[in-house]
Amino acid sequence: MNVDLCNKIEIFDSTLRDGAQAEGISYSVEDKIKITKALDALGITYIEAGNPGSNPKDLAFFERVNGLKLRSSRLVAFGSTRRAGVTVAEDSNVQSLLEAKTNVVAIFGKTWDFHVEEIIKTTLEENLRMIQETIAFFKNQGKEVIFDAEHFFDGYRANSQYALQALQAAEAGGADWLVLCETNGGAFPSEIAEITKIVAKTFQAKIGIHCHNDGGMAVANSIMAVEAGATQVQGTYIGVGERCGNANLSTIIANLQLKRGFQCIPENQMQSLTRTARLVAEVSNLSMNEREAYIGHSAFAHKGGMHIDGVMKVTHSFEHIDPERVGNQRRYLMSEVSGKNTIVSKLKRLNPALHKNSPETQQLMERLKKMEHEGYQFEGAESTFDLLIRKHLGKYKPFFELKHYKIIGEQPPLGETNSSAMVKINVEGRDEITVAEGNGPVNALDKALRKALEVFYPQLKQVYLTDYKVRVVNTEDATGAKVRVLIESSDGQSVWGTVGVSTDIIEASWIALVDSIEYKLLKEIEKKAKAYI
Ligand SMILES: [Zn+2]
Repeated sequence: MNVDLCNKIEIFDSTLRDGAQAEGISYSVEDKIKITKALDALGITYIEAGNPGSNPKDLAFFERVNGLKLRSSRLVAFGSTRRAGVTVAEDSNVQSLLEAKTNVVAIFGKTWDFHVEEIIKTTLEENLRMIQETIAFFKNQGKEVIFDAEHFFDGYRANSQYALQALQAAEAGGADWLVLCETNGGAFPSEIAEITKIVAKTFQAKIGIHCHNDGGMAVANSIMAVEAGATQVQGTYIGVGERCGNANLSTIIANLQLKRGFQCIPENQMQSLTRTARLVAEVSNLSMNEREAYIGHSAFAHKGGMHIDGVMKVTHSFEHIDPERVGNQRRYLMSEVSGKNTIVSKLKRLNPALHKNSPETQQLMERLKKMEHEGYQFEGAESTFDLLIRKHLGKYKPFFELKHYKIIGEQPPLGETNSSAMVKINVEGRDEITVAEGNGPVNALDKALRKALEVFYPQLKQVYLTDYKVRVVNTEDATGAKVRVLIESSDGQSVWGTVGVSTDIIEASWIALVDSIEYKLLKEIEKKAKAYI
């Protein structure tokens, strides 16, 4: 057998179906199109896009998406076996599945005897007929059929003979895949491995795995199933799903492909893993879990001084993989404990000739000490630090000049807005004055500044604030209470943090806002310059 073929794992993403059942998630048709395109670009084999029988909105999506030319993904419509006591053809769920017009359908059926008798209240024999006949019906329509064996592991534990009979019925109906579902999410890896091995030995059809994360082991369980013979892994790209979520596919893909030599997506797409996660989170209106394995912003963030020292000498001393392999970045966090080395490494990036004892390094250390004394802290605000170094080395040219700004607070508030801001800036000799209203003075100022700058830099339209934190800092001077404002911004692809300190909260916010914008513009220029090389 071809080595590549035997190492191929088909990834089945259910963000739009199982993921849509997560608390707080509601996808519009447009959202679903965006996620479908992103998963297709990444090279995901199957995209389960909805349950047309239970959700009429899903049918509208299938109509739209059937017009898209997908490069690598096959769309899947999801639905149940026919109900008890009706023929397949007259079952309304089955009709809706046909209307979705996908080449692949995923049919779920009961495999746990208790569910058959107590939940859907039919006989064990009728349930087997429901499975076999429904699958045979779709095979006769020329479709690829994936059988989702619901509660398979619980069913196997309760009555292994019946659970296996359910799979036999699916295979007799012609199912291309038998997917073992760990629906309640409480199983252990050793159990999954043992049962999957038995199934893989017993059946001709290909085996898949579908795990939920109620015990915090969905990823481990999925990987154990693959090692036991499963060649399809179902989950959701960033792990969203009902209750505690589904198996996180971004983690599974990275683990299987980088650590176990399986091929889940094309090798040249591995570097898109991080970017895709951010896009899926954004469209899902969720803040990313920044501690997520491989793809989180903190996944390769080093803070301890000795750790930083180690990574600088040999990166794998404190890193399990090179972050670039998944499109992530190594970060050295600025903090009292991280020491001089971090600063030197950042300086070196801009001027390789600099070292620990260069006068520029010494001066920067002095300047930093002074700023920290004033209340600055750069952890979480590395972009401000980055700009600071450029300014220090004379490698920085401001993108605009502030002439002045003015803020008016309105009392009582008029509906949502209670402040307005006027900003006057100058870009290369041209003045621009704008006014904006906002929910609070900082919001009004942010809007007015962007409005003015977008005239010159339209790329700023993609930038938005994802977090805004204010902290009162007590400096040793006690010359007055100061505030530190930390801002986190995003353009949908990356996130960056900036900081401002002042006795005036508006001014502190302004400093952080300006840094955020200048950093984005600077990165754009650098990206373009790189593209020319
Ligand atoms: Zn599920």
